[in-house]
Amino acid sequence: MSEPDNPSRRAVLQRVALGLSVGTLGLSATPTATSADEPLLREQDPAARKVQYVEDARRAQQAQSGANCSNCSIYTAVSDTQGRCTLFKGKLVKAAGWCNAWSGL
Ligand code: SF4
Repeated sequence: MSEPDNPSRRAVLQRVALGLSVGTLGLSATPTATSADEPLLREQDPAARKVQYVEDARRAQQAQSGANCSNCSIYTAVSDTQGRCTLFKGKLVKAAGWCNAWSGL
């Protein structure tokens, strides 16, 4: 690819390139929450006990067959084994878990 001969055009292209670079750096430097920042919800947690949360849906007698956190409508996976549930802000739940607020809608 040839370089532009016009100095002002070259200056504009350099500014655009610099702006894209700075913008990219700015985005990558923005702190984001990762699953490593969030503890795993424990069954003993008072909030978990309120909805009878268990880490393994097979232990929940009230759970429909096949129902677990991974197929709940308010679950967002962060890995194959755990994810976020809107009921428990700042904590992760097990994909294989279940609670009585499960919704398959
Ligand atoms: Fe799991 Fe759904 Fe209960 Fe959240 S509401 S703990 S994702 S079953």
